[in-house]
Amino acid sequence: VIEIRDLHKSYGQLEVLKGVDMTAPKGHVISLIGSSGSGKSTLLRCCNLLEDSQQGDILFEGEAVRWRGTGLNRHPADKAQVLRIRTNLSMVFQQFNLWAHMSILQNVMEAPLTVLKRDPAEVEEKARGYLAKVGIADKADVWPAQLSGGQQQRAAIARALCMEPRALLFDEPTSALDPELEQEVIKVIKALAEEGRTMIIVTHDMKLAADVSDHVVFLHKGKIEEEGPPDTLFGNPQTERLRGFLSATM
Ligand code: ATP
Ligand code: MG
Repeated sequence: VIEIRDLHKSYGQLEVLKGVDMTAPKGHVISLIGSSGSGKSTLLRCCNLLEDSQQGDILFEGEAVRWRGTGLNRHPADKAQVLRIRTNLSMVFQQFNLWAHMSILQNVMEAPLTVLKRDPAEVEEKARGYLAKVGIADKADVWPAQLSGGQQQRAAIARALCMEPRALLFDEPTSALDPELEQEVIKVIKALAEEGRTMIIVTHDMKLAADVSDHVVFLHKGKIEEEGPPDTLFGNPQTERLRGFLSATM
């Protein structure tokens, strides 16, 4: 679904991604791990075109993203392509980012209605279905502030699902949550993995990465230091850096 080739990204003088290659094939779950500042969020944001890069390619279903202009005027060349990619890659953030002035149901329905211009009755039926799927069907008519963190994050996942995207991108979906609430969200992510959804998950939770991933990528200072299936990566790390990282986090 998504392929990244030799991606380089800098913020001014700071080179944050130094030639990253990563592929998320259909139906696969990729986990991105690495220390704070290693470039995980930046890589995810590049996938979703929230960030531009200086070099390299991002391909969505084989279609390369084209950019034009320079400096502050640099932007993706084709608006229809941006829309196609953004609607097909739904992002779930650490801080949920629900709209506070909308009910949970309205939050889930908003993008399919306004961006995709879908039929309201159909969207409502789907939205209620996804809320049931993440276990909060009874919360449809309350405000986000009335939910626990775990419930808010599950609502954010329902909102991402309601776009019926080709892939889901998670940026530390559980790290703002207390341990008990974390488990509710992990359960939902595991269920999505079992359904064969394509996902890229940035996480500090090595157990989650080990449990759900087909492939784990360890990023260190903007480069892939080591990658492989979770059994190999966690069971038999090859590099000193990954061994150090794992002993500090597990
Ligand atoms: P964490 O685990 O803390 O979330 P991360 O691996 O997600 O870290 P990034 O957020 O991708 O790391 O940041 C990588 C580097 O890029 C950091 O040094 C950060 O300070 C820098 N950076 C990120 N966003 C910007 C920005 N908008 N402008 C300038 N520098 C940035
Ligand atoms: Mg981050």
